[in-house]
Amino acid sequence: MTGCSGSSTATVRPNKWQEIRLVSYPVGEPHDGNFALVEVEAPDLEVGEYLVSNEWISLDPAQRLRMNPNSAGYLPPFRLGEVPASWAVGRVVSSRNPSVAVGACVLHNSGWSECAVLNGCESRPPRLIDRHPALRSVDFLGPLGWPGLTAYAGLFDVGRAQPGETVFVSAAAGAVGGMVVQLAKARGLRVVASVGTREKADLVGREYGADAVVCYRDGDIRELLPRVAGNGIDIYFDNVGGDHLEAALASMRPYGRIVLCGSIASYNDSEAGRAPANLFLATAKGLILHGFLARMYEHRWDEFSDHMRTLVERGQMKAPMTVVEGLEAIPQGFRKLFSGGNVGKMVVRIGQ
Ligand code: NAP
Repeated sequence: MTGCSGSSTATVRPNKWQEIRLVSYPVGEPHDGNFALVEVEAPDLEVGEYLVSNEWISLDPAQRLRMNPNSAGYLPPFRLGEVPASWAVGRVVSSRNPSVAVGACVLHNSGWSECAVLNGCESRPPRLIDRHPALRSVDFLGPLGWPGLTAYAGLFDVGRAQPGETVFVSAAAGAVGGMVVQLAKARGLRVVASVGTREKADLVGREYGADAVVCYRDGDIRELLPRVAGNGIDIYFDNVGGDHLEAALASMRPYGRIVLCGSIASYNDSEAGRAPANLFLATAKGLILHGFLARMYEHRWDEFSDHMRTLVERGQMKAPMTVVEGLEAIPQGFRKLFSGGNVGKMVVRIGQ
């Protein structure tokens, strides 16, 4: 696998490239017709701009929320005709910015495109990535990037995880969930997890070290969870919402914490989701329900980055990737996030 850690410094400046645009808002599950693959001419760079040729692009469940024209309460909806924003890593192939050298590797948020013209003033500022022999550039879309910060800040800052406690993690074979399981085990917590398949249960139990794993497709999670919750759950790291959140509320110990990271079970819903039927248990048990976005913890980047880099370099943080090839495969890969078609981080490989 090539990457910013590799020796290649080829810097061919393309004259044109392809990008994916959102052309209609999905109703329910997105389909191919919601997107268009478009070829664009490379513009001349203005002073301060630089051109990045992408190597890897991230596919993230929350992008689906921005494909709703009324995504109130979250980031603004994507406009029709817009390239959906997502994190990507690539190499600078042309620069009129004195701070950014040709050959530099950049983590940026310009989305589903083979190339990006940046100037450092974007609403999510790009980060220059340090080259390091033990790391691949794609790691900056996973353990060393925003999913890693989400897991780290969600578990330790929001969840205030302590050794000896029990944490329940949903979507535990996914990018964020898998890292939460491993961070929690390394900190001395008991980990209970849920996943969608037996194969994922094996991975999360054997490779990540979870103490008990349930496959939520084997039954009703509200019946499955109490069988493995032992004396109860101190922390629920919620990636799913819906029935999982109801199950967790019922199994929480008094004064427990629920980390509201995401609710993927409802992202394709056209109607607003319903509240958990047993929400009053939060009152009765004195629970803290704490929502967060990783960007609220960006000030933790350096500490998180040092911690995670050490784990990755020592082979103590397993971060598998599910790779789809090329821009044209993006709609299909994106859909798979909602049917469990990924293990670890879902990424798109561009032109390698
Ligand atoms: P991911 O877990 O790698 O991929 C999504 C996984 O969710 C799928 O593989 C599938 O696994 C599971 N899933 C999909 N639909 C489901 C359903 N109806 N019920 C139960 N499980 C379902 O994705 P990720 O990027 O790590 O994100 C995980 C969650 O964190 C998402 O909710 C995302 O929006 C959220 N998130 C939040 C932040 C933040 O700043 N708060 C940042 C990043 C991500 P199974 O096969 O196990 O079903």
